[in-house]
Amino acid sequence: QLMRDMVLGMIPAGLFGLGLILLGTALIARPLRQLSAAATQLAAPQTTQQLQQIHAWYRDASAIRQAMLTGVQLLQQKLGQLSHQAQSDPLTGLANRRAMAGVLELLEKTGQAYSVLALDIDHFKKVNDTFGHDAGDVALKEVADILKHNSRTGDLACRSGGEEFALILPDTSLDTARTIAERIREHIEQTDVPQVGRLTMSIGAACRDADNLTPESVLKRADERLYLAKQSGRNCVMA
Ligand code: GH3
Ligand code: MG
Ligand code: MG
Repeated sequence: QLMRDMVLGMIPAGLFGLGLILLGTALIARPLRQLSAAATQLAAPQTTQQLQQIHAWYRDASAIRQAMLTGVQLLQQKLGQLSHQAQSDPLTGLANRRAMAGVLELLEKTGQAYSVLALDIDHFKKVNDTFGHDAGDVALKEVADILKHNSRTGDLACRSGGEEFALILPDTSLDTARTIAERIREHIEQTDVPQVGRLTMSIGAACRDADNLTPESVLKRADERLYLAKQSGRNCVMA
């Protein structure tokens, strides 16, 4: 009888103890489960916010959360840098061909109107031959700065290769593109480039229209007009 009373008496206490253990386990496991969920997507943009919302109420979970927050921030910073480096030209800091292709693809997808300028420095080989390659690099940077200063937010200035540049002008008619090109041409012509002196540029302009629907054909048309500008004696705009 005594044994039976003891066992029966212990059941509620045992159940209560078990309940406490289960509750404690759940409370300890909860932040760990949330941390492990965040760990599966460290590069996702919302991960930092997700980590900050985790209630890491005991020291170990809090230390893991802090370490993960630091790691995520470093990782995302690094990814941002890599993506910036992959999209920009190291000499001038302008966008490169890859970035230009991405923007043109976006413009094509959204069906937005845009114009493109193809720009090429005149007789640049002579600049290198006369003043040296380093002076040529200085000139390329100067031209890049002029392009940047002459583009509005939303425009994209790119170095498409060597001494060739492109300016993508969203929501811009061919007429406006021609005006912008002319302004850039004049600006370049009037600038005293350090170590080199005066430079000129030839520019071809084209816009997306019924004849040129794809980015490739708009670029091709701009290039053809650039070639025409070179043929017409350089230092001019063909639209
Ligand atoms: P045109 O008026 O017909 O365009 O003549 P150009 O001399 O400018 O054209 P060409 O294509 O004959 O020469 C381009 C020159 O650009 C040759 C090359 O050495 C130079 N160049 C290309 N990339 C760079 C660069 O990164 N730095 C420097 N300094 N020069 C470069
Ligand atoms: Mg040239
Ligand atoms: Mg060229």
